[in-house]
Amino acid sequence: MNIVLLGPPGAGKGTQAEKICQHYGIPRISAGDLLRKEAAEKTPLGNDARTYMVKGLLVPNRIVSAVIDQRLNDEDCKRGFLLDGFPRNIDQAGELEKLRRIDLVLYMELSLEKALERLEGRMSCPNCEAVYHLHFDPPGKEGVCDRCKENLVQREDDKQETITKRFETYEKETLPLVEHYKSAKLLRTVDAGRSVEETFAQIRDILDSAQESNA
Ligand code: ADP
Ligand code: AMP
Repeated sequence: MNIVLLGPPGAGKGTQAEKICQHYGIPRISAGDLLRKEAAEKTPLGNDARTYMVKGLLVPNRIVSAVIDQRLNDEDCKRGFLLDGFPRNIDQAGELEKLRRIDLVLYMELSLEKALERLEGRMSCPNCEAVYHLHFDPPGKEGVCDRCKENLVQREDDKQETITKRFETYEKETLPLVEHYKSAKLLRTVDAGRSVEETFAQIRDILDSAQESNA
């Protein structure tokens, strides 16, 4: 299946994306991770993207769509994929519709109050992109990635001021996609305020029954 993950920053999209991809054997395509990789490598595209990311703004559609289009052409995306963080506005949804058929949109619903609590405590591994939380999911050794032993960092856009801007951007540009995909009868809503495992159980129920009705 070709799946889209939708929800506010901090809803737990990356956390659930990992679990979904492991369980169903499909690749995760994270727009944010792809852009951060370009930025870390200081490519012209990455330098351009970073100027928007640090301000909590959406990177222009032409940049993001090019990155996503290229990734979707990889061999591992032929038998389904999970898009995390793309599309993020109506124009990108239009672009995506031209590129691929979308079977289902998982909307991870969470109040911005709870999302803020999650973003403020998020710690990320700059090497393998693993994600932790200071209180909700701390690593075994404080400040160190369990997987690759790299020192964890706070993402440069997880500062209070930028978070506020990202929420504004989300409400203005991304939230209209909920109605868009509801009208297209593709939207399935998940209560993202539960624990990681409870949230994943809801997602599994949705995806398993969608697969059964597709069979
Ligand atoms: P997103 O990709 O939507 O921005 P993340 O998956 O990075 O969100 O999660 C944001 C933060 O919240 C991370 O620090 C993560 O460890 C934590 N987190 C994710 N899911 C949950 C959950 N169900 N309950 C509590 N904390 C969570
Ligand atoms: P994320 O890792 O999903 O939290 O995304 C981090 C940042 O990358 C966002 O705040 C945007 O600046 C940028 N970004 C990610 N996905 C997109 C997208 N689909 N369109 C535009 N910008 C994006």
